[in-house]
Amino acid sequence: GNPALSPSKPAHMSTSPQHALRVLFVTSECTPFAMTGGLGDVSGALPVALREQGLDVRVVLPLYRSVDRGQLEELPGTLLVPTWDGAASARVWRGWLRAGTPVYFIDYPGYFDRPLIYGPNGGAYGDNLVRFAFLSRAAVELTRFLRWTPAVIHANDWQTALVPVYLDAFERAWPLSACASVLTIHNIGFQGVFPVEDVVFTGLTNGSSRGIEHWGSLNLLKAGIERATAVTTVSPSYAREIQTSQFGSGLQEDLRARASDLTGILNGIDTVVWDPRSDPHLPAHFDERSFEAKRECKAALQREAGLSERDDVPLLGVITRLTHQKGMDVLARALPRLFELDVQMVLLGAGDPEIEQSFVEAARSRPDRLRAWVGGYDNGLSHRIEAASDFLLMPSRYEPCGLNQMYSLRYGTLPIARATGGLDDTIEQYDERTGAGTGFKFHDLTPTTLFDVTGWAVSTWYDRPQHIRQMRARGMMKDFSWSAAARTYEQLYVAASRRHRAPHAVDSVRALP
Ligand code: ADP
Repeated sequence: GNPALSPSKPAHMSTSPQHALRVLFVTSECTPFAMTGGLGDVSGALPVALREQGLDVRVVLPLYRSVDRGQLEELPGTLLVPTWDGAASARVWRGWLRAGTPVYFIDYPGYFDRPLIYGPNGGAYGDNLVRFAFLSRAAVELTRFLRWTPAVIHANDWQTALVPVYLDAFERAWPLSACASVLTIHNIGFQGVFPVEDVVFTGLTNGSSRGIEHWGSLNLLKAGIERATAVTTVSPSYAREIQTSQFGSGLQEDLRARASDLTGILNGIDTVVWDPRSDPHLPAHFDERSFEAKRECKAALQREAGLSERDDVPLLGVITRLTHQKGMDVLARALPRLFELDVQMVLLGAGDPEIEQSFVEAARSRPDRLRAWVGGYDNGLSHRIEAASDFLLMPSRYEPCGLNQMYSLRYGTLPIARATGGLDDTIEQYDERTGAGTGFKFHDLTPTTLFDVTGWAVSTWYDRPQHIRQMRARGMMKDFSWSAAARTYEQLYVAASRRHRAPHAVDSVRALP
């Protein structure tokens, strides 16, 4: 078990601070209960950090089959949820995240008692629109069930993007009329697009469905963007990028229309799980004052990888989904030239079968240069690679926030990354005159540019080791904790709540020159 992630019951079952800002956080995944990716990490961490800051934050999640009911308590009463097909009765269970953060599970077996969250083989269940419309509506109803009115409901991605729509369309009476909505976009590539005639499954009518249509289809994310009080995404750079046609996945104009209400807030990382001082996956531990033990980690990984055990050669790490988004096609094409340099590379990843194959072949032809663990997921190995590597390669095409570069900075491993999204915001470019910076960034995503920037990092490693040492120490001291992010979210909630209650007053202030 992971101590930082395991749910724990607080000493007092009711720990809600009396006058604290109330926020209902609605999500389709939340670690450690149910997760498939980054949204699950954020949902398991941000509400806890906000709670630690004194906010009364509560989480809503479906009761999926994978959730262990042994840790939960069923609440008395029935949650009535209006649906396209009449009222449905759900049950509500309660569990806990750290810091006494309640999680309410919506128990509706017809939709959620299934083997997977979204569907088999990375695909979608045929009724996902109905399932997540139900979750969104249930979250709003839950506030009545609990007799607890939040100041803000915070929705995430397309799965819960109907929450702001339902609030706006159906909750015109006090007290929910005073509730603001925040929608966070974790990846603009997933929008919840369905045939337009399926609008009936949302329960919305011609009069209430404003904003839901996009190019002849339903688009749940677009509707949420249009109707939420405030919209956020997971880094300042990504907030700018998604307003352009290159990164907006077709929603750039809708986002530009909300530009003054759109902000980027960097995700944090779990600094307990990712700590080189105590990480149980490592053979030795280090910190920013003494990273000598990092050498031991490197030697151990070289042995594990079957590479020659040399401290005088830079070790490049790659831990990623092997996909087009992550630029792994470009890295594969850059390998022949990269391997002309005296470097070693370890790669851990799974994904696109063609890309997987190209790394398998590269490792077969250059076993002295590359060890590739392809096709599996190995958490312990990912920690060992972060700690052992000198550099971590992240040539992403786009990266809403990215976690790996923050993990690597904490482990004294310098990122070599494309200057996009959260990568650009969290990595400072190296300056070879002064030694400033925390990593090596590049813009054009081509094998040549990737080779050039890696060559620059490698020559720095050989020729200016004192700069590498300074950059390592600088990166290790950066604060990527959730508490920093939570402070910004709190300000956003307060501003959204004020703006929602007095839209005209604030608009006129904003209109001043
Ligand atoms: P994304 O969420 O887009 O995949 P992030 O950088 O935000 O990218 O997070 C990816 C996380 O998944 C990182 O913690 C990374 O170490 C981990 N990861 C990716 N692939 C693997 C794998 N095959 N084995 C272990 N961990 C992996």
